[in-house]
Amino acid sequence: MHSKFSSYVDADAMRAWRHAIHRQPELGFEEFQTSALVQRCLSEWGYEVTTGLAGTGLVGTLVFGPGPARLGLRAEMDALPIQEATGLPWASEVPGKMHGCGHDGHTTMLLGAAQALARLHREGCAMDGTVHLIFQPAEELGGAGGAQRMMQEGLFSRFPCDAVFAMHNLPGVPQGRFLFREGAYMASSDRASIVFEGCGGHGAMPHLATDPTVVASATVMALQSIVARNVDPLASAVITVGRLQAGQTYNVIPETAELELSIRALKPEIRDLLEQRIRAVAQGQADSFGARCRISYERGYPVLINAPAQTRLAMDVAQSLFGTAQVMANAEPLCASEDFAYMLQERPGSYVFIGNGDNGHTHGCASGPCSVHNPSFDFNDRNLEPGATFWVALAHAFLSTPTRS
Ligand SMILES: [Zn+2]
Ligand SMILES: [Zn+2]
Repeated sequence: MHSKFSSYVDADAMRAWRHAIHRQPELGFEEFQTSALVQRCLSEWGYEVTTGLAGTGLVGTLVFGPGPARLGLRAEMDALPIQEATGLPWASEVPGKMHGCGHDGHTTMLLGAAQALARLHREGCAMDGTVHLIFQPAEELGGAGGAQRMMQEGLFSRFPCDAVFAMHNLPGVPQGRFLFREGAYMASSDRASIVFEGCGGHGAMPHLATDPTVVASATVMALQSIVARNVDPLASAVITVGRLQAGQTYNVIPETAELELSIRALKPEIRDLLEQRIRAVAQGQADSFGARCRISYERGYPVLINAPAQTRLAMDVAQSLFGTAQVMANAEPLCASEDFAYMLQERPGSYVFIGNGDNGHTHGCASGPCSVHNPSFDFNDRNLEPGATFWVALAHAFLSTPTRS
C-alpha cells in the first residue's frame, strides 16, 4: 500500500466487523443488526446519522467545511437466502441465509473508510465540503430494491450529492484489481408475462377449438427473431423464455397458455426496442391464430451507466494509489443488474468493481473461481484495506478538486 491514507484505515477492525456481519446475515429490508452496527460506529466517530430510510437504510454525514462539494458513497447491506457451504470459521450462523454476494465486505469497506475519514476530519485535513455515506438495504430484491425506495423517501433531496459511487467485488479477477468503464456497465433486467387465451376443446377436434399452446409455441420461436433480426448485431440483448405453461392432460386443448420472459439489454434504446417488439410479436402471433393475448411487462433495474468524468476521477485515484497494473480502464460490461443504476440515473457517478481473486474459495465449484451467489463464495478480506483506502482517497480527491462535474 503506497498511500498516506492507508495508515488511517484499521484493517484488523475491518476484518472483525466483516466476520461479525458475515456470521449474522440478514435478508433485504431485515438488516436490523447490520444497520444498528453501522449506526453505532458512525455515531461514535462523530457522524450525523439519519436512520429509517427505506426501513433499515441509513446515511452518515460528515461535514469537512462549508464548501459546495457533496459526495455520496454507497454500500449495500443485504444477504441472500442461500445455505452457506464454506465451512469457514466466520460462516453464517443463520440457517438458509448467507452473505453470498459480498455485501458484508462492501458495508465493511465503507465503514472502514468512515472511520478513516473521521480521523482525517479530527486532524483538520485540508478537505472542504460534505460526505454522505449511504448504507442501503435490499439490493438483491429485484424489482423492489432498496436504492429506489431510499430515493422515493427523499435520499437526494435530503442528502444532496453532486456525484455518487459504489463498489462491488468481482470473483475471477485478480484480488485488488480495480475495473472501470465509462458508459453502460451492467444490463437492465425486465420481466414479461404473456397469457394466450384460446378456446378449449377435445384433443380430437382441434377445428372446433382455438389452441393457445400452438400460439405460445409459435411465439417462443418468433421471439428469437427479435434478437437475431431487430437488434443491431453489435449491441447486446437477451430474451429468455424461462417458463412455458399450458394444459393439464394429453387429450384436452386448454383455454390458456402462458410464457414468462427474462429480458436484458445494455442500452436504454435497445431495452425500449425489445419491449416494443415483444409486445408486437406476441400480439401478432395471437391475431394470426385467432387467439387473444394479455401482456404484463414489468421493468426492473435499468441499465447501469457510468458518467465519464466521475469514472475518470475514480480511475485516477485508483491509479495513483495502486499503479496502472492494478487498474483496468475499459472493462467488459456484465449482463447482471444492480439497483445502483437508479442512483446513476439521477446523479452522475461511477460503479467500480474490485477483483475478488479466487482466494482459495474454489471448493464446491466445478471449475474456476467461486462466483457470487454460490454457497461456497466468500468476500476476500485482503480487499478490505485497499477498498477502504480507495474510498478515502476518492473522497479526498473529490473534496479538494476544483472541477468535480
Ligand atoms: Zn448479488
Ligand atoms: Zn451484490
